[in-house]
Amino acid sequence: MSLRYISTRGEAPTLEFEDVLLTGLARDGGLYVPEKWPRFSDQALADLRGLPYGEQAARIMWPFVEGALPHEDFANIVDETYGVFGHRAVAPLQQIDQDLWLLELFHGPTLAFKDYALQLLGRLFEYVLARRGQRMTVVGATSGDTGSAAIEACRDRAGIEVFILHPHGRTSEVQRRQMTTVTSSNIHNIALKGSFDDCQDILKGLFNDGAFRDSVQLSAVNSINWARIMGQIVYYVVAGVALGGPGRPVSFAVPTGNFGNVYAAYGAKKMGLPVGELVIGSNANDILTRYLDSGVMEIGTVAPTLSPSMDIQVSSNFERLVFDLLGRDGGAVKAAMDGLRETGRLDMGPACWQQARAIFRGHRADDTATLQTIRQVYEQSGALIDPHTAVGVAAAMAGTRSPAAGPLVALACAHGAKFPDAVEKATGVRPALPARLADLYEREEHMTILENDLTSVKNFVRDRVGQAATV
Ligand SMILES: *Cc1c(COP(=O)(O)O)cnc(C)c1O
Repeated sequence: MSLRYISTRGEAPTLEFEDVLLTGLARDGGLYVPEKWPRFSDQALADLRGLPYGEQAARIMWPFVEGALPHEDFANIVDETYGVFGHRAVAPLQQIDQDLWLLELFHGPTLAFKDYALQLLGRLFEYVLARRGQRMTVVGATSGDTGSAAIEACRDRAGIEVFILHPHGRTSEVQRRQMTTVTSSNIHNIALKGSFDDCQDILKGLFNDGAFRDSVQLSAVNSINWARIMGQIVYYVVAGVALGGPGRPVSFAVPTGNFGNVYAAYGAKKMGLPVGELVIGSNANDILTRYLDSGVMEIGTVAPTLSPSMDIQVSSNFERLVFDLLGRDGGAVKAAMDGLRETGRLDMGPACWQQARAIFRGHRADDTATLQTIRQVYEQSGALIDPHTAVGVAAAMAGTRSPAAGPLVALACAHGAKFPDAVEKATGVRPALPARLADLYEREEHMTILENDLTSVKNFVRDRVGQAATV
């Protein structure tokens, strides 16, 4: 029987995988989650060890997609997806200290972890659209890495137009160029005069206009799309099993912005992987760490940092956790989220807080600590980690850990060469881009700068989608 998906706000229709994939955000403003988490037996987990990444990925994700497409087609899509990655292990582990490992998630086309889910998403979209004879408009907001990963995943794919909003002037040059130098005619870059949160608000605005949403067949690729969570659960399970799971627990430290990556770790745990601790690394935008410390979520103002993909105040995926914390009560989630939006404050009470603290620990690393950590890891192991990874590693190294929590895996979420200035400042060494991106700084850029205004963005999307449909 195929798994069904429900909205965190309880009012949107229950959907099966294919519709969840194409829909993104639920119509009631909520996010889709599985009605029930599939669970692997210890034996099924142990059987994964040693298999190629693509094969493990197909096994881990199958319960989520079963019924939506034939097993053979899915296995082929997954195999093709991870075949384009630049390392045979796809997500290799590198040991950097006695009991600390880096999980290298930068071997995809855009050198950041988002490729691991988005490369799959682009292929699934194309497959499903072709089967349905439909077209679709993908929109995404990016503070840096999502955009280029989405663009690489969807460029030149049939039936898809892609619009990526990024905060004008607030992404790194490498990140911007990875988006704006793509010449495919189905790719449209919008540089919004605002912050990443403004981009997110515009995105929500596009989705909340039902007529617009239907007229252009809108879909999202940002981390609210369920299929992205699914694609990210894989590497936690693969790493956990490689380091001794399910025979012993493994802990993870995750640099966190929108809560998508660390929520996937939570998903891996729900699916039966023994997980010790989940450590959330925050930069100066530390709303999640403050929540874990105080029990109250309070929205501050976004501060630019060396880790721009985490310069976020409201973490959209946190709603998926809130749903579980509030006993899967959609009405309560809606009230909590509306309250947070209106008052900038959310207090779910001591019981929820303790529940969250039993699963997660938070740690904040400001830019100074980030640079120190990059330097320290370089001196200890020779690895040149990027600033996001460093926030996670700093969190991993902070605090005392019970030996019962098992080995600790820090997620290396981007290649150091995506943020060469910070890495060079910390270590004196400038990391080089891999050969396939070596001419990035010479390529011509394409983007449209728009005001922070919903109507302007709507008009732009409508025009371009209209032009594409008439070609
Ligand atoms: C997107 C991103 C993050 C934040 O991940 P979330 O899923 O938003 O929590 C951290 N580091 C890098 C390099 C990223 O691209």
